[in-house]
Amino acid sequence: MKLHILGCGDAFGSGGRNQSGYLVEATNKLFLLDCGPTTLLAMKRAGFDPRRLDVIFLSHLHGDHFAGLPFFFIESLYRQPRTTPLIIAGPPGTEAKVRALFQTMYGGASEDKEIPPTRFVTLQPDEPANVDGIAVLPFRVTHQSDAISLALKVSYEGKQILFSGDSLWIDRFIEHAAGVDLFLCECSFYREQPGMHVNYQALAAHLDRLTCKRLLLTHLGPEMLAHRNDLAVAVAEDGMVLEV
Ligand SMILES: [Zn+2]
Ligand SMILES: [Zn+2]
Repeated sequence: MKLHILGCGDAFGSGGRNQSGYLVEATNKLFLLDCGPTTLLAMKRAGFDPRRLDVIFLSHLHGDHFAGLPFFFIESLYRQPRTTPLIIAGPPGTEAKVRALFQTMYGGASEDKEIPPTRFVTLQPDEPANVDGIAVLPFRVTHQSDAISLALKVSYEGKQILFSGDSLWIDRFIEHAAGVDLFLCECSFYREQPGMHVNYQALAAHLDRLTCKRLLLTHLGPEMLAHRNDLAVAVAEDGMVLEV
């Protein structure tokens, strides 16, 4: 299967990069990991019809990871209706937040604006799930104190991708990255630590314990971009396509 990097930037669009969005193209299945505000346009730029999308997995409910959903909804309502409901799988609270976001963006002053037919699936930490034939193991990461942020380990067609979501470095990444085909790990900072994100120094200290087949850094902030030639690990680029 193929992974299309639609957006590997941070919340601020650092370096002109799109916000979080990763498209997995498999046989008869198309799904997203995260859906930042720039995801629909990046998907179209990559040549994909959004109606083909089966599932959108969400790591957490920060705007740069889920605020692209309303654009998929209006695409379906006004331009290209879907024939099957879109499936959205995310952490507890996803459905209410997504509906409220759509209401805020496109609802009227007095009337509710309904989203197109959608099936919501709640992903609970450490509870393996099967979403439309895609196996996913969500586990909690350290990013928000008042809500659940997840890393997502996705298995399909004999391949495995571990996506960190947003998180401080946690040693559970070592356990879950063992043997996976790709570990897509956020790395917002190089040395600084202003928020709950991975910085490169923390990651580099554990590199010899990571046994994934491939490691790719994403969610890159300006400090990481300034140091991109000093890294021992590959970094993602918008538009990059990887064979997994
Ligand atoms: Zn983020
Ligand atoms: Zn976040």
